[in-house]
Amino acid sequence: MKKYFFECNDCGKHITSDDLIYLCPDCEKQNDAKRPPKGVLKTLYVYDEIKKKYPKDLFFNLQQNRFLDLLPLISNESRPFLDIGNTPLYEIKQKEKSFHLFLKDDSQNPTFSFKDRASEIVSAFARESKINTIVAASTGNAGSSIAGICASQRQKAIVFVPASAPKAKLTQILMYGAQIVPVDGNYDSAFDLSIAATKKYGWYNRNTAYNPFTIEGKKTVSFELYAQLNQTVPDKVFVPVGDGVIISGVYKGFEDLLKLNIIDKMPVIIAVQAEGSNNIISNLNNKSFISIPSKTIADSISVDIPRNFYMAKKYLVENNGEWITVSDDEILNASLLLSKESGIFSEPAAVAAYAGMLKYNKEKKIAEGEKVVVLLTGSGLKDLNSVQPKIEIPASVKPDITSVEKFLNQQ
Ligand SMILES: *Cc1c(COP(=O)(O)O)cnc(C)c1O
Repeated sequence: MKKYFFECNDCGKHITSDDLIYLCPDCEKQNDAKRPPKGVLKTLYVYDEIKKKYPKDLFFNLQQNRFLDLLPLISNESRPFLDIGNTPLYEIKQKEKSFHLFLKDDSQNPTFSFKDRASEIVSAFARESKINTIVAASTGNAGSSIAGICASQRQKAIVFVPASAPKAKLTQILMYGAQIVPVDGNYDSAFDLSIAATKKYGWYNRNTAYNPFTIEGKKTVSFELYAQLNQTVPDKVFVPVGDGVIISGVYKGFEDLLKLNIIDKMPVIIAVQAEGSNNIISNLNNKSFISIPSKTIADSISVDIPRNFYMAKKYLVENNGEWITVSDDEILNASLLLSKESGIFSEPAAVAAYAGMLKYNKEKKIAEGEKVVVLLTGSGLKDLNSVQPKIEIPASVKPDITSVEKFLNQQ
């Protein structure tokens, strides 16, 4: 018997299957291209069995085994040799009588983004399922992540991208030896084609909010936060949101711990979106979904039709989640501030979470003593162009000390 089964986010049906399965078959039939898909699956485990297996020191034992009991994998042997996750959590000194600010630096993953957490589990599952080719549709971090992780596992990665995708993003994917299929069309047509190809060739598909195990990979961040905060639950977690998979993963991780009675409350999770692309937040109270075309420098969270909208909404509503939007200007200013005050250089999408925390604190004042985590999901080196307006590289000086002195005096 498998140790996990699925629950459909939308119809609630439980599904156990020996075949590879992505979306709930009933809900999938009703999907169309204009709305977020329904039928995204949540992976559940037999929590009582896990509790019985470790009658003492449950969390410690789970941690010792790299949380294998809470992952859809048979063995840790199938996981990549690269170090994924276990990223640092830094407490940043604040003024006295303030809240405690913690930065979770997920740019320290092998391909420099949070996406490696999902790629790890997808890659390991493919290995256990004896499928050697993994396909994904992506314009950015998910594509480079699956490319890098597959390289480490000697698996083949095929990434469908819109033909218009920026060169810089494609470079990292190609460096890892993955195959790129540029598609004449937008992200959605690349997404659909990648699924058609998956079905035709029997590959494994990593698409976000399609493959349920991306959420299982992403949830590991919550286990780490709990461990790094000396086995306590943070009061608030600020999460940058595009398709809504990371935020669902964060919720899912804490939900697993709740089901195991390791923790007894959910943190308040704050969804942060860019003002120019807030299709999750703007639709939370809408009867039917309305997509507004995106325009923001935070390209990793620039999403017209958020693929995991229904699950993210459900988690936010059921757990008294909160939300906030930030402008591109606020993101750029926060970028500089974050780098200057912490030495962490993050890409705009990640900085959005930090900007959201600053704005939230200004508007609502975070209470003294609260433990507040900001998820920094990707490295600033991935997108050097957006911060150019904020810096100026000075002209050169003559190589003599008088010129240097003059130069320094001008600064
Ligand atoms: C993908 C990504 C996000 C957003 O994750 P979603 O699951 O799409 O909400 C945020 N930051 C970075 C750096 C990302 O690559």
